Amino acid sequence: MHDIIVVGAGCAGLSAGLYAARAGLNTLIIEKMFPGGQITRTQSVENYPGFPEGVQGLDLAMMFKNHAERAGAVIETAEVTGFDIEGAEKKIVTANNIYKAKTVVLAMGASHRELGLSSEKKFIGSGVSYCATCDGTFFRGKNVAVIGGGDTAVGDALYLAKLAKHVYLVHRRDELRAQKALQKTALQNELIEFVWDSEVLEIEGEDSINAIRVRNKKTFEERAIDVSGVFIAVGTSPHTQELTDIIDTDELGYIVTDNGMHTSIAGVFAAGDIVAKPLRQVVTAAADGAIAAFGARSYIRGNE
Ligand code: NAP
Repeated sequence: MHDIIVVGAGCAGLSAGLYAARAGLNTLIIEKMFPGGQITRTQSVENYPGFPEGVQGLDLAMMFKNHAERAGAVIETAEVTGFDIEGAEKKIVTANNIYKAKTVVLAMGASHRELGLSSEKKFIGSGVSYCATCDGTFFRGKNVAVIGGGDTAVGDALYLAKLAKHVYLVHRRDELRAQKALQKTALQNELIEFVWDSEVLEIEGEDSINAIRVRNKKTFEERAIDVSGVFIAVGTSPHTQELTDIIDTDELGYIVTDNGMHTSIAGVFAAGDIVAKPLRQVVTAAADGAIAAFGARSYIRGNE
């Protein structure tokens, strides 16, 4: 039996693994894919303290991974298919194994939301993308659109402006949600054109995309914008589908915790983007992971 199993090896899970291992806990991190999580798809992280020049997302993720492993955390690749975590002995089920632990940290994160258009589905992989740093290079010298107004959308627009001919940032309101520093840089970039108050009605084309049809929500005016690629960045939804019946979540499915990252189940903690909270950043994911590991240690010692 492990002292602690961390599910998910994004920044929150790796930080939990680091702190748990350094506290002397027998620590297993289970990750279904490559360690690092969402940050591996971010070109440059410019707001993680200690990196004034910015740091590549993948590089930062690998530093987190190496640090956790060096401390003694073991990372296994497996997809978790079930959670039996309400009793004192927690069981994490995968296709080939049932792992047991005294405590669990849920750090499975969140993944991109879709616009919900049928034409969006049709062009996934042939013009519609949810990852500018992964697919931006295919649109070198072409016109692209980014949909959304948060940090991801604005960051994507800035990244794509280095490759594409012209970037349209289509946002449903007339004010961005993104942090002010990003907004300022994007608003000053001549290659980024803001299409305010607008929703995407359709992504048009035969075998490949040639335009998006947008409607202004105030004037109801419709127009086509010629683009070859559409980058959708309209937020995330949490990976809590298998948990919503047994653990407290908010109305969007994010796990509710207290300041100690305790969930509604004793001995089960949550960390990172899966948590209901106002700020989802690497720095808050790392902090959540540390607090969750501290809580797990206290729980095991009976200090709570
Ligand atoms: P987000 O902050 O939730 O923003 C989503 C954006 O998409 C909002 O502007 C929203 O519009 C828009 N939107 C939502 N549903 C839509 C729909 N159906 N149609 C059109 N537009 C829609 O998501 P995010 O930008 O992916 O960021 C997620 C979290 O990660 C945030 O906490 C963010 O701060 C963090 N993050 C941080 C960094 C960084 O620090 N470098 C980078 C990326 C992400 P409204 O504004 O009108 O709601």
